Amino acid sequence: MLCFCLYTAGALPAQTPNSKNATAQNDPASGANAKSPAPAHEIAIKAGHLVDVDSGTVLSDQVILVRDNRVIAVGKALAIPTSVTVIDLSNMTVLPGLIDCHTHLADGARDPSGDPLSYLKRTAAEVALESVPNAKDTLDSGFTTVRDVGVYRALTDVALRDAIARGNISGPRMYVAGAYVTITDGAGALTGAAPDIQLPWDLRYGQADGPWQVRAVIRKLANDGVDHIKILSSGAVLEHGSNPNSQEFTMEELQAAVEEAHAFGLRVEAHAHSAQGIKNAIRAGVASVEHATLIDDEGIALAKDRGTYLDMDIYDEECIEADARSGAIPPDFVQHDAALGQIQRDNFRKAVREGMKLSFGTDAGVCPYGVAARQLAFMVKYGMTPMQAIQAATTSAADLLGHSDVLGSIKPGKYADIIAVASDPIRDVRALETVSFVMKDGKVYKQGNSPN
Ligand SMILES: [Zn+2]
Repeated sequence: MLCFCLYTAGALPAQTPNSKNATAQNDPASGANAKSPAPAHEIAIKAGHLVDVDSGTVLSDQVILVRDNRVIAVGKALAIPTSVTVIDLSNMTVLPGLIDCHTHLADGARDPSGDPLSYLKRTAAEVALESVPNAKDTLDSGFTTVRDVGVYRALTDVALRDAIARGNISGPRMYVAGAYVTITDGAGALTGAAPDIQLPWDLRYGQADGPWQVRAVIRKLANDGVDHIKILSSGAVLEHGSNPNSQEFTMEELQAAVEEAHAFGLRVEAHAHSAQGIKNAIRAGVASVEHATLIDDEGIALAKDRGTYLDMDIYDEECIEADARSGAIPPDFVQHDAALGQIQRDNFRKAVREGMKLSFGTDAGVCPYGVAARQLAFMVKYGMTPMQAIQAATTSAADLLGHSDVLGSIKPGKYADIIAVASDPIRDVRALETVSFVMKDGKVYKQGNSPN
């Protein structure tokens, strides 16, 4: 890996969203005003073009000053102190690091069979270690932050998040869910095993029935140090015995989930394909609905009224169809998926037209890791401008995470999460499918043609 060695000696790479020792808000090592025993490291980035996602404009000839892991100044023709390292991106377009609000980085290697039952053949340690390249590929493709929304093997995501935060491995800043909170044998459960097979604890950790079991599992997850809660409000596509058109948790259970999560300061996202599952989740007060495939007019009105984000994974249908053609996924999954992909894309177009709050989430893991940016072109195809698609993956994503103070744009005080591309992404958003430069937390992970 290309290393500019920008860390303050002895300092942790600041970032951990919710480890028990440090949070994004109060990590003493990450504060712009933190007292560090070692001298600060400063970098000046010369940006030929800079996408200002807050204003929706592109600025030219900007200088970004970075101290340790934060941006400290941005402006045209800023004076560059002689002592700093200069990174010349004057022939490139510079953007804030991208944020994917729907990933599954810690679920191990993508299994060629596409069958969740393959988890019965791997230990939790294998799954966690298989996830290391998922994190690296994601960061190298320009995604400096992810909201990871659930794992089958509970808490592998917490381990991955913390290994990245400690600097043991390369990866994006992760905000994690710990497990799927799901009804017994529901959309987030490992289904398809024979009834007399007893699953290990971590493959059934998030199963809960009734409001008090839901509250109990959320209390455990909060104690485990998760950053948000993932609940499943309808059936799923890539799950045995599941029906995406169904409703799973009851209103009472969903309300208990949101209330309990809020008591711990955690936001809730709800998986929901079915119209009723979507509306129940919005009424219960979730921050975002994942997939939102079959959202109806009432659901759209409700989401607008409550300010609920829709996190619609409109690209991964390409991968599901390709896997179906090659026979790589189980036939019942293909059956579930019939027609849903196009309906979701049409509803995305409607949501754009209605001015809904839309974040960028890809369900990374359905497609290979590292190709999430391909969804941007689909968001443009289905109604967004390139700037709107970029904002979904920056400012809107940061807002959904509740961390606009430190994420989502290149502004003084925010984390120095900065990427660059060779061609103009406002003219063709596919430019973001080939990211040439990646900085996270003030550290360069990828630059030009240098080896990673
Ligand atoms: Zn997912």
